[in-house]
Amino acid sequence: MHNQTLAQLSAGLAAGDYSSVELTRHFLSRIEQLDPAYNSFITVTAEAALTSAIAADEQRARGEVHPLCGVPIAHKDIFCTDGVRTSCGSKMLDNFVPPYDATVVANFAAAGAVVLGKTNMDEFAMGSSNETSWYGPVKNPWNTGLVPGGSSGGSAAAVAARLVPAATATDTGGSIRQPAALCGITGLKPTYGRVSRWGMIAFASSLDQGGPLARSAEDAALMLNVMASFDPKDSTCVDREVPDYTAGLNDSIAGLRIGIPKEYFDPGLNSGTEGAVRDALAQFEAMGATLHDISLPHSALSVPAYYVIAPAEASANLSRFDGVRYGYRCADPVDLRDLYMRTRAEGFGDEVKRRILVGAYCLSAGYYDAYYKKAQQVRRLIKQDFVEAFKSVDLVMGPTCPNPAFAFGSKGDNPVAMYLEDIYTIATNLAGLPGMSVPCGTVDGLPVGLQMIGNYFDEARMLNVGHRFQQVTDWHNRTPEGINP
Ligand code: GLN
Repeated sequence: MHNQTLAQLSAGLAAGDYSSVELTRHFLSRIEQLDPAYNSFITVTAEAALTSAIAADEQRARGEVHPLCGVPIAHKDIFCTDGVRTSCGSKMLDNFVPPYDATVVANFAAAGAVVLGKTNMDEFAMGSSNETSWYGPVKNPWNTGLVPGGSSGGSAAAVAARLVPAATATDTGGSIRQPAALCGITGLKPTYGRVSRWGMIAFASSLDQGGPLARSAEDAALMLNVMASFDPKDSTCVDREVPDYTAGLNDSIAGLRIGIPKEYFDPGLNSGTEGAVRDALAQFEAMGATLHDISLPHSALSVPAYYVIAPAEASANLSRFDGVRYGYRCADPVDLRDLYMRTRAEGFGDEVKRRILVGAYCLSAGYYDAYYKKAQQVRRLIKQDFVEAFKSVDLVMGPTCPNPAFAFGSKGDNPVAMYLEDIYTIATNLAGLPGMSVPCGTVDGLPVGLQMIGNYFDEARMLNVGHRFQQVTDWHNRTPEGINP
């Protein structure tokens, strides 16, 4: 059962091949047996999952249900879950049990999906390797000596190891697409405003966006159908009709104009990764698409602009963790100042503290114009590059990451080397555009991701193009060794 896609599981449930209870038990036992090796879950909600599976089976027996009714999923531990600890990968929130569901979580509950648990992640979603989680690193199922990517590494590893058919994730600078690429699965970061951020713990509010990690484009479409909704509780959520993302999956892609940015094939790109991406582009050409060389001239500025804007927003968002309202509180504070200082010193990890310091510095009166304002101006130029590009092409394509999965500790003492892992993904968030990663080959047996960047609200086209690619390739069906006992 665990090798079936979400689409197949949904059909299997509808045909009565198995019940949701059987399916749920099967995945829960895989998590119990295999996850000690991957550490992809922070919390497993076995009892609640079985209760909702029973309810899903009853609902199905009564008649028409949502396609995801009874299908197991998992949520990144950044989405608030009513009555279930939501840690955001941090000691600061280790004891935090939200009294409400995030809108994304509520949407899945309304569809009748069964939640197996909460997945591991970099602390407050800051990282590209999952090494910053307070709950320990997640291991890449393709090679447990390597990172799964981050920050949604738990969701990505769980899907890659077939511990859950699909999971939710978030992407502020690449955290859906990069772990998807490194774990050989499909991930989609929607247009900013497509998915509600309400109840999704904030890292950098103008960049954060929730989206699915799944086995295939078709499964990502099924997930996005549930995740995307207009939500008046999130003032940046866009009131725009949610199409059925599965409707156009099989449309022809003949005539599709694909832009290839020269800046995404720079000397920093691994040659094996480049080869796999170029083969995929040739495949699209064979399917009737046309390739066009383009330029996104401000690409090199995206990492520096991001590492001003994201920390600036983080420093403001994370000021709420003060030992008073929720989460960790230091022992025996002598006064209010001591409470604030020791709570934050003890509750946050090093990377989070680094971001808060950088952000507070960039926003300080003396440096605001030089750093924050300048970064916002650069952000506009980056966005403008894409607006220009989309005048002559339908999609932009290139690698998701410069390298395949790397070893634990290999970038430990060099934050800038880690930040450069997101060189191809960050511009998308700065521009608010949708981005998707699909498996397109391997380097030394490790998965490589092809990135597609679409125009605003063009998710349906991206899913269509991804699906057509997956009908003629089998990279997305490859499975890491040892996960199929
Ligand atoms: N790796 C990037 C960072 O550390 C992006 C993280 C994300 O998308 N949440 O900020």
